[in-house]
Amino acid sequence: MEYRVAQICKIVKGELLQGAEDRPVTHLLSDSRKLIYPAVSLFIPIVGTHRDGHQYIGELYEKGVRCFLTSRAIPAGEYPEAAFIRVKDTLRALQMLTAWHRQQFHIPVIGITGSNGKTVVKEWIYQLLESDYNIVRSPKSYNSQIGVPLSVWQMQPEHELAVFEAGISMPGEMAHIESIIRPTIGIFTNIGEAHNEGFLNVRQKINEKLVLFTRTEVLIYCKDYPELNECILQFHNHIRRKASDPEKSQRLLTWSARHEADLRVISIDKNENHTRIDALYEGQPVYIRIPFTDDGSIENAIHCWCLLLWLGTPETIIRERMEGLTNIAMRLELKQAVNNCSLINDSYNSDLGSLVIALDFLQQQQQHATRTVILSDILQSGKRDAELYEAVARLLEQKGVNRLIGIGKSISREKNSFLGIAGLQCVFFDSTEAFAEQFRHLSFQNETILLKGARVFAFERISRMLEQKVHQTVLEINLSALVHNLKQYQSLLRPSTRMMVMVKAFSYGSGSYEIASLLQFHQVDYLAVAYADEGVELRRAGITLPVMVMNPEPGTFDAIIQWQLEPEIYSLQMLDLFEQELKKPDIREFPIHIKLDTGMHRLGFEPQHLETLSGLLRRSPHLRVKSVFSHLAASEDPQQDDFTRQQGELFLRMSDTLQKALPYTFLRHIANSAAIERHPDLQLDMVRLGIGLHGLSQPGGPLHEKLHNVSTLRTTVSQLKKIPPGDTVGYGRQGKAPGGMTIATVAIGYADGYIRRLGNGRGHMLVQEQLAPVIGNVCMDMLMLDVSAIPEVQEGDEVIVFGPDLPISRLAEWAGTIPYEIMTGISQRVKRVYFQE
Ligand SMILES: *Cc1c(COP(=O)(O)O)cnc(C)c1O
Repeated sequence: MEYRVAQICKIVKGELLQGAEDRPVTHLLSDSRKLIYPAVSLFIPIVGTHRDGHQYIGELYEKGVRCFLTSRAIPAGEYPEAAFIRVKDTLRALQMLTAWHRQQFHIPVIGITGSNGKTVVKEWIYQLLESDYNIVRSPKSYNSQIGVPLSVWQMQPEHELAVFEAGISMPGEMAHIESIIRPTIGIFTNIGEAHNEGFLNVRQKINEKLVLFTRTEVLIYCKDYPELNECILQFHNHIRRKASDPEKSQRLLTWSARHEADLRVISIDKNENHTRIDALYEGQPVYIRIPFTDDGSIENAIHCWCLLLWLGTPETIIRERMEGLTNIAMRLELKQAVNNCSLINDSYNSDLGSLVIALDFLQQQQQHATRTVILSDILQSGKRDAELYEAVARLLEQKGVNRLIGIGKSISREKNSFLGIAGLQCVFFDSTEAFAEQFRHLSFQNETILLKGARVFAFERISRMLEQKVHQTVLEINLSALVHNLKQYQSLLRPSTRMMVMVKAFSYGSGSYEIASLLQFHQVDYLAVAYADEGVELRRAGITLPVMVMNPEPGTFDAIIQWQLEPEIYSLQMLDLFEQELKKPDIREFPIHIKLDTGMHRLGFEPQHLETLSGLLRRSPHLRVKSVFSHLAASEDPQQDDFTRQQGELFLRMSDTLQKALPYTFLRHIANSAAIERHPDLQLDMVRLGIGLHGLSQPGGPLHEKLHNVSTLRTTVSQLKKIPPGDTVGYGRQGKAPGGMTIATVAIGYADGYIRRLGNGRGHMLVQEQLAPVIGNVCMDMLMLDVSAIPEVQEGDEVIVFGPDLPISRLAEWAGTIPYEIMTGISQRVKRVYFQE
């Protein structure tokens, strides 16, 4: 649907500051990086505590955007061709606009909230009903104050059913979301016990979530959560009392495995890989079978079942479709692939919304110059093919894709949409088989490949051809968790404080450019590495952020200059050597960072050097001090807080002396992760985030329990053995089995970074979710676990070395070391797999 500026202005009760009233708007843009259709987009600058969207107006104007909301004054004459609508609060205006848009449609709209399962229920509803309705739904888990409006904005006249999920983090938010989604059918999935972040207690959280269902005709939920059930009954009675005709007001559609309910579940039979659920509905026996056996999936499926019953779907059809439910891919994975390629595998569904998300992820990858998309036909979009592939072509163009391999009859037929795009090479195949036959001739080399296809195209076959055989032990890195942690730390900073992220030692073992690309995308201000070659690797992979090098050896000065890296200077001798290097080519104002020693006694200038140092810096035309910094020795330790404060004071005095000597200003910084949490007064102009990014917070600090686990190290059981009483296990016969035992040999050893001290019962791993101790000495490539207490183990089973349920800090305690050593010790032969949820 197309809107005009004047109409939008009226809907959001804004004031048109300048520009044409009849400019068309079809797209909303709240993230400047996601621009696709400049000419018809309305930019909504969101004002956050750390970033103010208004700062991107200039850049977007350059790129052709001509319609803007703003809550600021506009400098006269700066954007002559643009229309500006001024409002008090841009986020509220976005919500008003989308609430208005929603009201143009009179189709069933399903609203889903609850603690867990929202996204799965939404995606399953889509799978179950896509052949009956043209459905619009939230992309991935767009369920926030900004995500919900953008989801609802996708509603178009061709849609027949809408499914949106809603999440909240604070009291008062749901009323806004309700006015935007205005669901006619409600599903409350469940309520978790865990953290009531932002809420007084569980009841307050439930009641806030219930606001979503104020106007629904029906509310579907499970009665087996006592608090949820009580709150819903109260809420429901309140609604009925207020209604003019209580008989026509809201209906509850309940299910329960324990109490009377509309859908009374009688039995849940789990076998190998299916679950059969029998129930009574309106007194009649009914059943479904689903290809899952975990409790979460069973609950999610029953919610969907209730919905289908409410919609009157015939029983045979319900049974058939439930049987066909599939796991929804909640994550995008980045893996190493053949010939130095990287592969993003998203071959589970294909629709425009998920294509946009996958292309954003592709665009963030800077490591290879070439970006390739292997794309199947897009099914069920509700658009005509010509229009659909025209839209896809525009997307590929905007996201800088260099090569398209189209697979399927429809995309092949519409090839003309793609041929005109400059810089895009295309080839097309009718089927996955046809592609596979030609695979050898297509030459994939040093590129990032996005594999995106509808399930029927069986792209697993292609991913098998592209993926490198991986050693069974992999380190999985959750990029979404990393971003979450970054934002948590940012939330503790004053708006003016900048963020440097320490990516030394392969970003604490998790990766180099993979992590740096993500940090660049999320606009941190600085990166820091230990050695010049780490910095060069980042530059080669397209990282353009400023990079500080902490140990710039004289032999690497030329590389530092050539690749625009910024050295840390910690002695007069080094200052002299580096300056000599800049003199010959007469380079001016090269950025450097001055390290002060305030008590750590590692590297850095001491107070007695300051006079000479200031003189040299002031006189040198070749150097420009970007920052002056120092490092804290014990910021994590409450018993050393006096010492930390002394370090802080000495730093301020020393850096003042330098500042007074120089005619320009520089940034000052001293805080590492622990200090960001524990010493907010030491934030200064910038902080240096390290281990915190990886999910390790300070006990008792403001982020404790708020960070997410980033890395999971997994391996597998290679062999199981029964050891007779009295025999021994492993080298040196250190593993004793006086009463006999069952052992599992797993594929990880000290050469992978599993510390040898963890042998002989000190270390444990998770097998079938239970802890099993290491028996005997750790070998180079393997070790043995005592699994006598876990009878269900089988060969090939997964073994978790560390992860969400077995934190690295536990391992570090067992080994008598610190998490840093464990993390950076995981050897490079362990393959890293990255994913985004
Ligand atoms: C590694 C490092 C940091 C980060 O320390 P964390 O404890 O991981 O936050 C900060 N500053 C310097 C100079 C470092 O070497």
